[in-house]
Amino acid sequence: MEKRRIYIDYNATTPLNKEVKAEMIEDFDIYGNASSMHSSGRHAHARLEQARKAVGDLIGAPAKTVIFTSGGSESNNMVFQTIWRLTSGEYGKPLTQGRREIITTAIEHPCVLNSAAYLKSLGFKVYFLPVDEYGKVKMDEYRKALSENTLLVSVMMANNEIGTIQDIKEIASLAKTAGAWMHTDAVQAAGKIPVNVDDLQVDYLTMSGHKIYGPKGIGALYVRSGAPLFPLIHGGHQENGFRAGTYNNVGILGYGKAAELAKQNLEAYGREIRALRNQLRDGLLANVPNITINGHPTDVLPNTLNVSFPGAEGESILLGMDLKGIEASTGSACASGSLEPSHVLMAVGVGPELAHGSIRFSLGWGVSKEDIQYIIDTVPPIIARFRAMSTVSSTPSIVPL
Ligand SMILES: *Cc1c(COP(=O)(O)O)cnc(C)c1O
Repeated sequence: MEKRRIYIDYNATTPLNKEVKAEMIEDFDIYGNASSMHSSGRHAHARLEQARKAVGDLIGAPAKTVIFTSGGSESNNMVFQTIWRLTSGEYGKPLTQGRREIITTAIEHPCVLNSAAYLKSLGFKVYFLPVDEYGKVKMDEYRKALSENTLLVSVMMANNEIGTIQDIKEIASLAKTAGAWMHTDAVQAAGKIPVNVDDLQVDYLTMSGHKIYGPKGIGALYVRSGAPLFPLIHGGHQENGFRAGTYNNVGILGYGKAAELAKQNLEAYGREIRALRNQLRDGLLANVPNITINGHPTDVLPNTLNVSFPGAEGESILLGMDLKGIEASTGSACASGSLEPSHVLMAVGVGPELAHGSIRFSLGWGVSKEDIQYIIDTVPPIIARFRAMSTVSSTPSIVPL
């Protein structure tokens, strides 16, 4: 009998949607260079523009404001490096005069944290805003940090580890009032919850294909018309000169299809995936004593459940679950392999010991009710075993008679 495999790590990446895959296989025959004038080129170009429209539609943005990149990491880097170049004298907008401060948060994805750290090393002042126990940005700290020196505010829309959703609209409105540019990393949000750039009033918004059942290595950056942008890759005139290089057209078309499906399925996703997540949450709470749920109780992604299991160690739980065919993660995939506790859990005040005993379950299309029940049945004995082991090891090995 084939062993049961339940993939429940959709915030790390998603499987390719079957419809997307079928289309991509056909798209490999569209070999024309989208920049060529002949009809093969024009056909490739037309398909590419359809995909751009689909990606824009997912966030309520006109197609012309969408730039294709290699993914969320590149999009985020592009924003931060644009901000750096703004101050380097190449772009003479009065807005940048004297402004050399950036505000971000302590719980961003590493590609934002490290981009911010890079700018700090180049002389920028960077605020890494603290969050409350639910992972929400402390607004009083934000207001204190914000000033006429702020050049960029970058706050993620939804967190990849605990799922907490920020009040981007309010954060953006304050940033705009202060005259700063506003960026949000919406990689985990776009395609899971409603996102609309005009409602949010952001200047830049980051997205990625492989978190929404599209291919890996493709993403996009929304850039509001009038917001500055510099290329990371110089060369030909692709993407209006903002991102040179012959198009990854199969990736782009697959991403376009994935975005189209995500928009179509948005409501069902919210309803069905949330119901499964709640089933898992309630089942674990009922069957494993003394556990806590991390993240915001209501302003949270429908698919994310982060649980602390005191007295058990995360990596062991993961291995124990993997032996039973359950594939989850401790915090972020990007941070695993390091023994540091999750920076997100530390920021919400979970503490290093508990952070080491925390598991992120992230659900998606493909997880069934039966799968959730299997997890609810399988995890409690694993936790009980590890807890018993850690109690044994802390008792003296020589027992007095
Ligand atoms: C996955 C992820 C990224 C990185 O996107 P890639 O396309 O993998 O580079 C950035 N931000 C968040 C919040 C993510 O979850």
